[in-house]
Order: sequence, then structure tokens, then C-alpha cells
Amino acid sequence: MTLDLLITGGTVVDGTGADGVRADVAVADGVIVAVGAEATVLGEGAARTVDAAGKVVCPGFVDLHTHSDLTLLSAPQARSAVHQGITTTVIGNCGLGVAPLADGADVDGVRAAVGYLDLDPSVGWTWRSYGEYLDAVAAARPSVNVAGLAGHLPLHAGVVGFDDRPPTPGELDRMTSLLADALDAGAVGLSTGLMYAPLTFAGRAELLALAEVVAGRGALFAWHLRDYADDGLSAVREALEIAAATGARTQLSHLTSVGRRNWGTVAKALELVDAARADGLDVAVDMYPYLAGNAPLAQRLPAWAQAGGDAVMRDRLADPEAVRRIRESWAGEALGWDEITVSSAPGAPDLVGHTVTALAADRGTDPDTVALDLLARFGNAVSMVAGGRDAGDLRAVLTHPASVIGSDGQALDVDGPTGVGMPHPRSYGTYPRLLSEHVADGTLTLPEAIRKCTSGAARRAGITDRGTITAGEAADIVILDVGRLADRATFADPRQYPAGVDAVIVNGEPTIAHGQHTGARAGHVLKAGTKDKGQRS
Ligand SMILES: [Zn+2]
Repeated sequence: MTLDLLITGGTVVDGTGADGVRADVAVADGVIVAVGAEATVLGEGAARTVDAAGKVVCPGFVDLHTHSDLTLLSAPQARSAVHQGITTTVIGNCGLGVAPLADGADVDGVRAAVGYLDLDPSVGWTWRSYGEYLDAVAAARPSVNVAGLAGHLPLHAGVVGFDDRPPTPGELDRMTSLLADALDAGAVGLSTGLMYAPLTFAGRAELLALAEVVAGRGALFAWHLRDYADDGLSAVREALEIAAATGARTQLSHLTSVGRRNWGTVAKALELVDAARADGLDVAVDMYPYLAGNAPLAQRLPAWAQAGGDAVMRDRLADPEAVRRIRESWAGEALGWDEITVSSAPGAPDLVGHTVTALAADRGTDPDTVALDLLARFGNAVSMVAGGRDAGDLRAVLTHPASVIGSDGQALDVDGPTGVGMPHPRSYGTYPRLLSEHVADGTLTLPEAIRKCTSGAARRAGITDRGTITAGEAADIVILDVGRLADRATFADPRQYPAGVDAVIVNGEPTIAHGQHTGARAGHVLKAGTKDKGQRS
């Protein structure tokens, strides 16, 4: 056998949670073929040798929770992801995917509703079915592997529209059959986002019917819960109840609690998760290592105020009675406007980077008025970074045995159309941050932190042959200079690639070498239920 690559002299932290061991790693045809003494022997005459002495060699990171559905089509080199060591990205989270779209779907309406994902207007929506969308991703030849969740928003809005009403029985049948088609075309699961209209109107019958389809195929149901603030625990119970009723493998996405008066709720949520797991349910959680989130500002509106789609929602904000009711609903919010910073507003860079409170002071008005103005002008395309979170809650999630890491970020390129605004720094720094700061402070050991970033996340997505350094697994490998490892992206200056991620190998192809992107675009689309490397068997 002729090897393509031999990685010599590194400390292999294999992604299982086991301690590191000094070992060589041999790669041929995109696959790890040997680890340890056998690799050393096979390595005679390898086409390429990488000296990893003094470095950690670990599996590539599997980012379970991303919003790169459209940015991968604009920036397929996925620089903000691969520079962190991400080799597989799971798209379609929070219900905010871009497929499947029913025949006759209001595509412009869906596109506006997922404006948060949509940074490059030149990306054309050329697909309808989930299979066509995955073909578009494959045609873009991304630098990372991609697994996709079908999005509840395009599914629901494409069939039912944007109004506050349940689907008719016929519509529910269409939704379940579109979902079944998406899963059969390779989606690894379904995601919902019950804070985003029209999903705010999705009730138990709809969630149950969709969960049954997911469960029938052993796929994953990922939940952006109905609430992460005052009603966070009942939102967790809602997801667990559907899991119990259907047996669907269930992921509670970015588990946190928002607003000081809710701090400590995460531990109670994790007790509910533990009880569900003790009952035999396959339930887990994920999180990113930051004390602030990033979402469309429209998430702050009550559900009724988001009804009807983007244009209707914006028009509604000219109605004094609607405005009065929205202001009333905001009076009791757990999170204040001083903790909410505008992170993107298309065509209005002067607004970006300021809190709503600061913008109000500039204008000599109140923050509610500013927020209403932003929503009327930009609709779903104005985004916020929202703080008000507790370090203890974060630590509780990170240390829970059933937690894995998902960045909730996007694959971005500082030099392209996606390199604008003030994105949440998680898009650039999640993994180096976790593996430096949260290991240095004793929250996690390095092997356990790496497990949560690799095999732990891969198994949630149903990916069974990536995520560890084992002969026979796909050759997705990262070489870390742990002493130099540092997240350099900050909230004030987010578009910074990290330090200490020396090499990233995707399907055997060096994609980061000596800290630089090589231009390689060797990612695969990982389809559920196929026999290709990295798929659910
Ligand atoms: Zn979300």
C-alpha cells in the first residue's frame, strides 16, 4: 500500500475521551489506515509526511449546530470553520433551513423569513426538494463535510404559509411526506425553531406527526425550544414529551437560560434530561462556550406580531394598536435592551455594534422605539447579539455527560460577501476557545473536551465513521499546537481566525497547512442511510 500521508510523533487524543498517546497516523485514499506502530512501518515511502512532534493530533471537529446553509454556497472554502479545525458541519438548525420547499411554496417569503442565514444576495435558490438542495451543496464543493437537517420553517411555511393556524389534515399529510422524502434523500434529521414565526404557531399535533417520521428513520429531531427565558423549563418539557411519545432521538439545541432572574434554570433542565435518559429516551444537549447568543431581533416580538411573513410583520409595525401591544409585552422582558447589540442590518453599518439602549440615547428616544424602527426597516434581516447569561449555567451544560459542542455559527470568509457586519465571534472561535479557556480553567479535561467536539457530536448526527482517530475512519484530522491555541475573535473584533490550529485534514486532503488555507475543497455531503464514508449505516 502506498500512503498518501504519515503524521509522525504527535500525541494522539483520539476523540473517545481517552488520554493522549504518542503515535503515528497513516492515511491512504482519504481514510485512516493505521495508528501507532503499524502506521510507522507502513509509513516508509509515504507521499507526504507531517511532523507533529510536540503537537496534539485529534479528529476534526464535528459542528453539530450551524447556520451555514447559504454561506457554504457563497464561501465554500468555509474559512471561519476550517481555521478552527471544523471538518464536518451540520446545517439546517433552529428550524431555519432552506429546504424542503413544497411545490407552490412562497419561496420569496421563506427566503425573507430566514434572512438571518442569507448574507449574499447573489446566491440563487435553485432547489425545491431536499435532494436538490444537497446537490447544490455538493456542486459548490465545500472545504468541509456537510450533513443537513431538514428545516421545519421551509417545510411548514411552504405548505401552510405564514398565518397563525394549524395545518389541515391534508396539509399535515403533505408535510410528513415531504419530510419523509427529505430524510430519504439524505437529511440526517429535522430541526424546529419554535421562537420563529410561523413555527411559533406549530402545536402538539404537528410536532408529534413530524417526530413520528423522524423516529421511524432513526434520525435526529433538534429543537430550538419555544423559550429560553421565563418559560424555559416548560419548553424543555414540551420537547421531552414529544420524545417520550414518539421515541425520536432528540437534541435540545444551545441549552441556556436568558435573563438574570432565570439563571440556574439550566441545572433544572438537565435534571429533566437525566430523568428522560433514565427512562431510556435518547436525549442530549449542545452549547457553544459564550455568554451571549445571536439571533434575528424579530425573535423578541410576540408570536402574533410575527404572523403573516416578513412583509406583513413589517407593515404591522405601522399600526398604533399593534405597537401598543408590543410595547406592553416588552415591559416584562427578562432581558434588557442594554444587553442587546445590533450585529447586522443590511446597508446600515452605522447601526452595527451598538446596543439598542445606546442607539436610543443617540436619538434622544426610548429603546422600544428604536427596536420597533429597526424591525420595521429590516424585518427578519436585522440581527442581535444578546447577553444576559450565567457562567454557572454554561459550566453546567459543558460538564454534563450528554452535552456536545455546536457553535451555532456560520461558515464565513473575511474577504467575501459573508465577511461583513459584526457576527457573533463563535463563527470564528468556538473550538479554540473551548479547548483553551475551558480546559485551562478546569471545566473539562482536554480529552473530554475533544470528545464533545468530535465523536460525541458525530454520533448525535448519526455519523458513525468520523469523529475518532481509528483505522477505518475517514481521515478528518486536526493538528493543534496546544501551547499557542487561542481564540482571537472578540465581540468587538470578531472576524479573526484563531491561533494554534496548525493543520486541518479533510478526507485526507490538507486543507489548513502551517496555519493557512490550502484552497482544498475535499468535503463530502454526508447523506443518511448511504454506504459512503461517514454515513449512517
Ligand atoms: Zn437556535
